[in-house]
Amino acid sequence: MKNPSPASPHAVLVAGAAGFVGSHLCDRLLERGCRVLALDDLSSGDVRHVEHLRRHPAFRFVRHDITEPLPTEARDCERIFNLACPASPAYYQRHPVATVLSSAVGAWRLLEVAQQTGARLLHVSTSEVYGDPQVHPQSEGYWGHVNPIGPRACYDEGKRCAEAMCLAYASERGVAVRLARLFNCYGPRLRPGDGRVVSNFIVQALAGRPLTVYGDGRQTRSFCYVDDTVDGLLRLMDAGFSGPVNLGNPQERTMLDLAERVLRLTGSRSRLVFEPLPADDPTRRCPDITLARQRLGWAPQVAIDDGLARTIEYFRALSAEAGARIAA
Ligand code: UDP
Repeated sequence: MKNPSPASPHAVLVAGAAGFVGSHLCDRLLERGCRVLALDDLSSGDVRHVEHLRRHPAFRFVRHDITEPLPTEARDCERIFNLACPASPAYYQRHPVATVLSSAVGAWRLLEVAQQTGARLLHVSTSEVYGDPQVHPQSEGYWGHVNPIGPRACYDEGKRCAEAMCLAYASERGVAVRLARLFNCYGPRLRPGDGRVVSNFIVQALAGRPLTVYGDGRQTRSFCYVDDTVDGLLRLMDAGFSGPVNLGNPQERTMLDLAERVLRLTGSRSRLVFEPLPADDPTRRCPDITLARQRLGWAPQVAIDDGLARTIEYFRALSAEAGARIAA
């Protein structure tokens, strides 16, 4: 589904612009003719993800931590996308303080600016607000099943707090907010050492190392290709309602299914090794996207094997580059 009526160009702030999803969003905004003020503290983002945009006349990158007061140019932006938060469990569990602060304090700083300038703010939330869900599939009305003191709490509760704060600013102070809940997004620019399952499996398969399956591999996730995710975010920003709205692929898969696909698509002969399941790892996760279909006319378009093939190609090119650097 092509977005039928892309909104007119705007000055847009993207927080978390050097991250995986944020950098793809910057690409699309510039294609639409927007001016982009890109902020990232580079704690989990990678400046190489926006390197190709550095000379674009409508793109400006500022290394900035959004828990600190925002640069004055932020006041010129009519729209704000907030993607600034580490999203890999392996990473955020090593940095729980920075994680909870980036969600809660970061959202607060951006909301304050939006209130003062009248900018519309889209906050990128997560399926993790549903925790280890007891209802399947998860619709936006489900309150979730989160362990508030577990190892994932810094991320889950940080994101829940940010959602509550967005809605508080909307109802009490009239800020125009949009809330998106993303479900396991994947694609080029995932970081090789990120710890997430798609990047781990691909890197391991290409290197001929065993694929590390946690638990028995029967837990499920629903993987959405990044181009589909970004399309959903742009539609939601333009839409006339706040959400929250789930953006994810409703095809639920086990980690064993994912491992088998990665092996087949890479042609790898790697074997599987089974490792302990991390604490509080959700057993199942699958979005109900009825709301996104009805209100945004959105549904994922990229089939899993196509998305994985494009992601594998990206990782192959990365390792060829690294090999060339070592050889040089
Ligand atoms: N996982 C795995 N092997 C890995 C990394 C992750 O089996 O090398 C599992 C993990 O336990 C979880 C699922 O894959 O059940 C998705 O993990 P990820 O960290 O990508 O994201 P999550 O959905 O847990 O935030």
